[in-house]
Amino acid sequence: MGKTVAVVGAGISGLSTAYVLANQGFQVTVLAKAFSPHTTSNRAAAFWFPYHVRGDQRGIGWVATSYQYFKDLSADPASGISFIKIVKGIKAGIVDDANWIEFMPPNTCTEVPREQLPTGYQQGFQAMVPLVETQLFLPYLQGLLTDKGVVFKEATITNLATIATAYDVVVNCAGLGAVDLCKDNHLFPVRGQVLLVEPGFPDAIFLDNHTPTYIVPRQDATIIGGTYEEHVGVETTEPDTLQQLLVKASNVFPELQHKRIIGSWAGLRPFRATVRLAQETDTNIIHNYGHGGSGFTLSFGCAEAVLQLMETPNP
Ligand SMILES: Cc1cc2nc3c(=O)[nH]c(=O)nc-3n(C[C@H](O)[C@H](O)[C@H](O)COP(=O)(O)OP(=O)(O)OC[C@H]3O[C@@H](n4cnc5c(N)ncnc54)[C@H](O)[C@@H]3O)c2cc1C
Repeated sequence: MGKTVAVVGAGISGLSTAYVLANQGFQVTVLAKAFSPHTTSNRAAAFWFPYHVRGDQRGIGWVATSYQYFKDLSADPASGISFIKIVKGIKAGIVDDANWIEFMPPNTCTEVPREQLPTGYQQGFQAMVPLVETQLFLPYLQGLLTDKGVVFKEATITNLATIATAYDVVVNCAGLGAVDLCKDNHLFPVRGQVLLVEPGFPDAIFLDNHTPTYIVPRQDATIIGGTYEEHVGVETTEPDTLQQLLVKASNVFPELQHKRIIGSWAGLRPFRATVRLAQETDTNIIHNYGHGGSGFTLSFGCAEAVLQLMETPNP
């Protein structure tokens, strides 16, 4: 029989970790306070892009691994994962930190001819990236895990050390929950508000990190984002902010101002300057949290890193 593992958290970090470990024969139990559709992960845009992982060289391998997992999983149309063009636009006068290109899979990124860019944009890059429709993928992944024998239990964990006595290994994927669980004052919420308009336009993702604006065409809605509000810990949207998002997006694609508004949401990114992915010394607890605005982009890569730690003797 495989070792027993408790994964705390059922967002993308927890589910991807459970997937990688279950594939290796571990007996996995996912313990979580909330499941899809009630996690931050459900509120992500959620396209693969190495946003805010640039300072951390470990991210190069992690994002590449995740890209490959999404590619493999996208073979099943029911997964809700598709490969879609992303255009990253840079306005005149903006100096873009181009380090993100080094995190892209080799030879996937090309420059967009200037005449094809929206008005006001001086430079642009395009690539094909995974778009993960969270409303489809998270329940789909949970279904795959159930088929693999993973057990799901609703539980609010108040002390990791306590559950660590009942399992061979505990992996902490609690996202923002780690503020309380680990008394980690390097972790804080960054609120993102988004507006949803009727689906069908545009046919590619558009991203401008600087305004910041992202436009993401899902099957059920086009997501117009977004805000990046550090230390705001309430999951509410503000009408004025949503209106500003629409104005900014309509400056890129004027067609958007005529689209019917069908919803909005806010989510709290679990931000930490670097992801905490490490085993706690002299314990059987491995932490995997603090993925900020890149939880999907990092997911399976971090899950593989957890597996590697489990295969390494305790430091
Ligand atoms: C508006 C917005 C847009 C985004 N867009 C993108 C994008 O395009 N691409 C991308 O890669 N990322 C994106 N993100 C970031 C991404 O959503 C997060 O990085 C990711 O969801 C974090 O996942 P997680 O599993 O670590 O945390 P969560 O999804 O928050 O899951 C945490 C889990 O832990 C559980 N938990 C917490 N505390 C406890 C406890 N004490 N006991 C038991 N269970 C507990 C919770 O119930 C939950 O199940 C976006 C985020 C937002 C808000």
